[in-house]
Amino acid sequence: MPKWRDAFDAVVDVLLPPSCAACDVVLPGPVGFCEDCAHEVLELPTVHCRRCAEPGAFQGQLCATCVQGGVPWARAWAPFEHEGALARAIQRFKYEDRSDLSRPLGLLLAATARHELASMPGVLVPLPLHELRFRERKFDQAALLTAVLAQRLEREVNADWLVRTRDTRRQVGLSEGEREENVRGAFAASTNVKGRHVVLVDDVLTSGATAREAVRALRAAGAERVFVLTLARARSDLKSGA
Ligand SMILES: [Zn+2]
Ligand SMILES: [Zn+2]
Repeated sequence: MPKWRDAFDAVVDVLLPPSCAACDVVLPGPVGFCEDCAHEVLELPTVHCRRCAEPGAFQGQLCATCVQGGVPWARAWAPFEHEGALARAIQRFKYEDRSDLSRPLGLLLAATARHELASMPGVLVPLPLHELRFRERKFDQAALLTAVLAQRLEREVNADWLVRTRDTRRQVGLSEGEREENVRGAFAASTNVKGRHVVLVDDVLTSGATAREAVRALRAAGAERVFVLTLARARSDLKSGA
C-alpha cells in the first residue's frame, strides 16, 4: 500500500468532522461511536459456537446446526453482536444512503478482527450484491467494508471472484427453509479461486443462508478453504436483517 494513502486518510479524517455512526452526534475525534452508543455496542460473547459464532455454551463448542454438518465454511466469526447501536449504524449504512459510514465501520472491523483474521488465511472477497440492487443502492456495502479492511490490514482483496447471478428477495420475515430456497444458486465463483483460501466478508451474519450459498459456490469452483468474517453476528433466535 503506498505511503500517501495513510497520509491522505489522516487528511480526510480532519476534513470531515467525525460523528457517531449510530446517532450522528459530533465527536471530538475519529472514534466511531459517542459514549452513550459505545455502551450499547456488544462484543460477541467469548462463549460461542467455534464454527458459526452463534452465541451460547454448546457441547464441544459446536451448535446443533454445526454438529449436523450444516455449514460449508471452515469458520465464521464476527467481533460484535448485531444489537443496539451497531445494528443502528449498519441499518443507516445500508438502507439510509450512508455510504460514508463504510469508513468508521470498516476501521472498526479492522481494529477488532485483526487478531482473528491472522488465523484466516486467504484473499478477502466481499459477499456481492446483485447488479439491480447495486443500482438501486448506488453502492455495495460489503465491497466498501472489505476495501477499508484490506487497506488497513494490508490484505489482498478480489471483488471479482464472486458474483450474484440472480436477484433475491430480502431475507427478512422468511423462515429458515424459505431463506435457503430464496438464495439457492444465486452465486457464481470464478475459476481463479481454485486451490485458494478465501475470506468471505459481509456486514452481518444472520441465519447464514446467504453466506452458506456463497461459500458453496466458492467451494464448487475449487476454493480450498473458505472463512467468513462479518462485522456483526445476529443470534439465530432473533432473526432480522439479511
Ligand atoms: Zn451516538
Ligand atoms: Zn454453529
